[in-house]
Amino acid sequence: MQTVSDNHQDIRDAVRALCAQFPDEYHRKVDEARAYPEEFVEALTRAGWMAALIPEEYGGSGLGLTEASVIMEEINRSGGNSGACHGQMYNMNTLIRHGSDEQRRKYLPKIASGELRLQSMGVTEPTTGTDTTSLKTTAVRKGDKYVINGQKVWISRVQHSDLMILLARTTPLSEVKKKSEGLSIFIVDIKQAMTSGMTVRPILNMVNHETNELFFDNLEIPAENLIGEEGQGFKYILTGLNAERVLIAAECIGDGYWFTERVSKYVSERNVFGRPIGQNQGVQFPIAEAFIEVEAANLMRFEACRLYDAGQPCGAQANMAKYLAAKASWEAANACLQFHGGFGFACEYDVERKFRETRLYQVAPISTNLILSYVAEHVLGLPRSF
Ligand SMILES: Cc1cc2nc3c(=O)[nH]c(=O)nc-3n(C[C@H](O)[C@H](O)[C@H](O)COP(=O)(O)OP(=O)(O)OC[C@H]3O[C@@H](n4cnc5c(N)ncnc54)[C@H](O)[C@@H]3O)c2cc1C
Repeated sequence: MQTVSDNHQDIRDAVRALCAQFPDEYHRKVDEARAYPEEFVEALTRAGWMAALIPEEYGGSGLGLTEASVIMEEINRSGGNSGACHGQMYNMNTLIRHGSDEQRRKYLPKIASGELRLQSMGVTEPTTGTDTTSLKTTAVRKGDKYVINGQKVWISRVQHSDLMILLARTTPLSEVKKKSEGLSIFIVDIKQAMTSGMTVRPILNMVNHETNELFFDNLEIPAENLIGEEGQGFKYILTGLNAERVLIAAECIGDGYWFTERVSKYVSERNVFGRPIGQNQGVQFPIAEAFIEVEAANLMRFEACRLYDAGQPCGAQANMAKYLAAKASWEAANACLQFHGGFGFACEYDVERKFRETRLYQVAPISTNLILSYVAEHVLGLPRSF
């Protein structure tokens, strides 16, 4: 079928060919075992897809977020889940755009070759949640080190990553003019941290998503691991957060196409009352409606990508793309589950797995309510509610 995603065909064909080596059964087994799709992520890395955003001089392919989002979309459209590996894509520009030459030289070639993974970003905290700038984890400078104390929650892929970008407060809230000041970001060597003050406690959750609570007890990290200027970290982390929203929008679009294609095929073949159930308009309309919404969301996703790649402000478009895409994929998921009838609940159809996976994006990485609040206040200029 013709869609807004009829572009970047060379990338799509190559990613689809790789994904075809990991059919539904592979992802189903990984899900059942609550395992990490190691072979799949390894294959993506070996083929160079995980280094898409790394400039060529450091061994990557120097592509933009648009192309990165196409890769993520195709993974989800093929029945996989980019949640296992999208961290490296959304973290990358934080390091590329705000890191020093030395940091780029130190990390990028190793990430490009697959020797290191940069799959984790530590922002969310248990006591402050969405109120990010109130976070309580501190980083205190002591000589040539920063000492980290505090706690994070829902930090994903820590057990399958070498590096994490961590957001912590370097100047107390009481000493800054704006809440967004006095926060800094650091590169944390995860394996080293796990032996010297960082404890990782996995959180069993609804989707097969490796995510954890982190506890920092006087973790010392070299001062040279600070990214950019001390106190400006919130500005820098937005590079990653906006990329994350755009990439997840693309993943939801991939899910949306997966659900609408699957259910269209199923309802065309399933006969009840002597005819295909898809002949009933009560069945057709919710599927058609979901497809229309996926297509519309896709336009906003490409607009957000365009602005991001041009280095222009894209907060509004990144948020709106994520909102529309997550809503569209969820509606497509509901239609797909509904019209598979009882079979939608059978694991071997993969619908229930994809249904759970796409549901996450109503809540993470930013909930729909917080996007509405962003648009109300920052785009429409309505009075601030918090
Ligand atoms: C599987 C998973 C993986 C994740 N991975 C990461 C990760 O790798 N790194 C990371 O830093 N974080 C990660 N997160 C955290 C995620 O970003 C947060 O869960 C999300 O931002 C919501 O924050 P919260 O859970 O603290 O919800 P809360 O802030 O407690 O909010 C709960 C709900 O209340 C509503 N709400 C809150 N405040 C308002 C308001 N002012 N107005 C209206 N409604 C409001 C929202 O609808 C929200 O859904 C992950 C979460 C999950 C579930």
